[in-house]
Amino acid sequence: AGLPAPNADRTPPVLSFEFFPPRTDVLEQQLWACIRRLETLRPSFVSVTYGAGGSTQARTHDTVARLVKETDLTPAAHLTCVDASRGEVDDVARRYWDCGVKHIVALRGDPTVKGGRFESHPDGYASAAELVAGLKRVADFEITVAAYPEMHPEATSPQADLDNLKRKLDAGANRAITQLFFDVETYLRFLDQCLAVGITAPVVPGIMPVSNFGPAKRFAESCGARVPDWLESMFAGTEGDLETRRMIGVAIAAEQVRLLQANGVDEFHFYTLNRPDLTYAIAHILGVRPVQAEPPLVMPAG
Ligand code: FAD
Repeated sequence: AGLPAPNADRTPPVLSFEFFPPRTDVLEQQLWACIRRLETLRPSFVSVTYGAGGSTQARTHDTVARLVKETDLTPAAHLTCVDASRGEVDDVARRYWDCGVKHIVALRGDPTVKGGRFESHPDGYASAAELVAGLKRVADFEITVAAYPEMHPEATSPQADLDNLKRKLDAGANRAITQLFFDVETYLRFLDQCLAVGITAPVVPGIMPVSNFGPAKRFAESCGARVPDWLESMFAGTEGDLETRRMIGVAIAAEQVRLLQANGVDEFHFYTLNRPDLTYAIAHILGVRPVQAEPPLVMPAG
């Protein structure tokens, strides 16, 4: 029967978008142009990542604080346990709560040294599950955690990783967002496994529209996400041809999300990489339409 007709009689899905904090003024302008374009799609929340070892703490904070002040969006701040005591992490969380950021994406984080083993701070949270419990003691945050359809690289087994996801949700998290993946079956199988261990919270697919295949491949592999041969062969020979790569990227992600939608998935998280166009096009394919700001009321003269 194939995929359902586009926009066939269905409620548009719920979307959320991830951004990273900008390092320079030019990148900040690029991020805000991206935010302005994507905010018209009325996402349920937008999240801002936290650099390795807390290296972007101030920039993450400034970006979410500006989202609170200047937009109607609901911001979520990513927060990790790396190189910080529980007290320090709790203080950061309290500052978020006080400035109106009530949603945290709670992560353990990765070691500051690439390839090293994660060592928790002597007085720190040792895992995301501990962080979730700690955040709930600070305030009644809405909390999102990470899930790994292809297992976290450090997990001893898929079952141990699922148990860990369940611990995070049982500690008070409201939903999980998955690591990026390319094969839809990988995600659907993972959803079944989540249900089998009693996970009932939403496990939202994390979608990364790819246009720069080389860096995307390196990034995916560093996260333990398999890059299928079909993906590599679709991009083969497009190295000097950005336009074609972008079109291929939209086509691949569109097929991915439509297959997910046909399987009942109605919530999607996009890794935007601070670029709006691919995400915007894919959202449109999913049936999401922009809502323009109300035009100002013009009073008749006289
Ligand atoms: P945890 O859930 O604590 O798990 C880490 C590993 O330890 C897993 O293998 C788990 O199975 C195992 N484990 C945990 N507790 C136990 C236990 N009690 N017994 C046995 N095994 C256990 N990183 C950043 O630095 N900044 C970000 O902004 C960021 N955003 C992300 C957003 C998403 C949606 C995702 C999927 C990842 C993100 N990451 C980010 C990456 C993340 O920090 C790394 O993947 C990190 O290695 C693990 O974080 P976690 O929260 O999944 O850890």
